[in-house]
Amino acid sequence: MQKLANYIDGELIAPLSGNYIDNYNPAEGRVYSMLPDSGTEDVRVAVDAATRAFPAWSAMPVDKRSALLLKIADLIDRDLDKLVRAESTDSGKPLAQARRLDIPRAAANMRFFATGAIHFSSEAHVTGSDAVNYTLRTPVGVAGCISPWNLPLYLFTWKIAPALAAGCTVVAKPSELTPMTAFLFSQLCIEAGLPKGVLNIVHGLGNKAGQGIVEHPHVSAISFTGGTVTGKRIASTAAPMLKKLSLELGGKNPNVIFADCDFDKALETTIESSFSNQGEICLCGSRIFVERAIYERFLEQLIKRTRSLVVGDPLEEKTNIGALISGAHMKKVLGYITLAREEGGEVLTGGKPVKLSGRCQMGYFVEPAIIAGLGPDCRTNQEEIFGPVVTVMPFDTEEEVIAAANSTNYGLSATVWTENLKRAHRVAAHLKSGIIWVNCWLFRDLRTPFGGMKQSGVGREGGWEALRFFTEAKNVCVRL
Ligand code: NAD
Repeated sequence: MQKLANYIDGELIAPLSGNYIDNYNPAEGRVYSMLPDSGTEDVRVAVDAATRAFPAWSAMPVDKRSALLLKIADLIDRDLDKLVRAESTDSGKPLAQARRLDIPRAAANMRFFATGAIHFSSEAHVTGSDAVNYTLRTPVGVAGCISPWNLPLYLFTWKIAPALAAGCTVVAKPSELTPMTAFLFSQLCIEAGLPKGVLNIVHGLGNKAGQGIVEHPHVSAISFTGGTVTGKRIASTAAPMLKKLSLELGGKNPNVIFADCDFDKALETTIESSFSNQGEICLCGSRIFVERAIYERFLEQLIKRTRSLVVGDPLEEKTNIGALISGAHMKKVLGYITLAREEGGEVLTGGKPVKLSGRCQMGYFVEPAIIAGLGPDCRTNQEEIFGPVVTVMPFDTEEEVIAAANSTNYGLSATVWTENLKRAHRVAAHLKSGIIWVNCWLFRDLRTPFGGMKQSGVGREGGWEALRFFTEAKNVCVRL
C-alpha cells in the first residue's frame, strides 16, 4: 500500500516515529493509502528548515520568487488529469467537479499570488512639509498554514501561495482525511526547483501535527481554515503567544429568494449552491428562504430537480453527488435528518443512505435532502450540517427575512435573488455575512476580501488582504 511522505527541507521523508494513519477512499469505504502520523518532533524539524530557508527566500527578488511559483502552477496544469483523479479518489467528490473547480483553482491561486506579489506596494504619507512616512512591508517569518478536507488542494494553495509570494517560508498541514494532492504537490515543488525548506508539508492529525505548528514559538502567523470549534482551540493557543491569526471557519448560509427573481436562474443556481460537493462547501446555502408568492412553485421545482441529481460513483461523468468524506461524517449528517424530524420538520425528499453496487457498495453516499416545516431558530437551522441537506422556509417581508437570515451565530456568506436593484443593495447591506452574492453563487474575483463575520471567522483572505496578512507593516518616519 502506498505510504505518503512528509516534505521537509526539500526532501520526501518518513515521520520520525515511523507511524502511519489509514487514508480512506470514501467512495469505496476502504483504506487505500497511508499518511505520516507526524508529531511535534517532525514539526520542529520542519520549522527549523523553514527558519533556515527564510533569510534567502525573503531576500530573493520578488520576480524570481514569482517565477518559481508560476512554474509550480504550470506543473499543476500539466498534471491536471492525475491531480483531478487523485482529488476525487481522496475526497469522494465527483471527478467532474475536481476538473472544473478544484484543480484549476489551485493553479489559479498560485498564479494570482505569484503575479500579485510583483504589484504589491506600500503606502507613503507626506505630513505637510514636516515629514515623510512610508510603510515597509516585510514578511512575517515562518507561517503555519492549516487546511481542511472539503476543497483540499484549492484551500491548501489559497494559503501557501500568498505566504510564499509575500516572502514567508511555510510549514503547512493538509487535512489528515485528504492528504494525497498536497503530497503530489510536494513532488511538483521539488521538480520546480523550489529551494529546500521554503515550503514544508507535515502530514498528520490535527491535535498532534496541527497543534504542534500552532504551539511552535518560531511560527509567527497561523492561517487556518476549518471548523469553528477547532478555530477557537487554535485561537486559545495562538492568541496568548501573540501570533498573527487568520481564521476561516464554518457557515450556515442563507439563500434568500424574492418573488421578483429570475425564477429559472434562481432555481438552477440553488441546486448548485445547495448540493455542490455533496453540500460540503462552507459557502453552500443551506437555509433557503422563499417569498410566499412563489414558495409552492419554487419548492415543487426544487424537489423535482433535486430528485434528478445522480448520486453515484465519483469517477463517473454523469455523477452529480459523490461520497461524503467519511463514515463518521455520514453518521453526523444522517443524525441531523433525524433531529430535523424530531424538531417537527418534514423531509420532502432524500435524506437516506444510498447503497451502490460494485466497487462503491461500501461508500458513504447520502441522497440530497430537502426539509420543510421548521422555523429559523431550531437546531437544524442554526447548526452547520455540512452535507447535502437544505431547509426551505417561506417569508412575507424583507424585514422578516433579514432577521431570520441573520439569526445564526455564523456570518460567512449569503445569496440574494431579486431583479429589484434597490432591494438587492439594501438587503446586501443588512445581511451580516462576509460575502454576499446577488443573483449568482460562488463566483469569485480573487482580488476581493474573503472571510466571515461572527463565529465564521476572524480576518480576511484574498487579494491584498492575504499579502498584508503575511507581512508586517513598519512605519518609517523621516523628519524633513
Ligand atoms: P477541522 O477543523 O476538523 O480541521 C481543519 C484542519 O485543522 C485539519 O487539517 C485538521 O487536522 C486541523 N486541526 C484539527 N485540530 C487542530 C488543532 N487542535 N490544532 C491545529 N490544527 C488542527 O475542519 P474540517 O472538518 O477539516 O473541515 C470542515 C470545516 O471547515 C467546516 O466547518 C467548514 O465550514 C469549514 N470550512 C471553512 C471554510 C472557510 O473559508 N470559511 C472553507 C472550507 C471549510
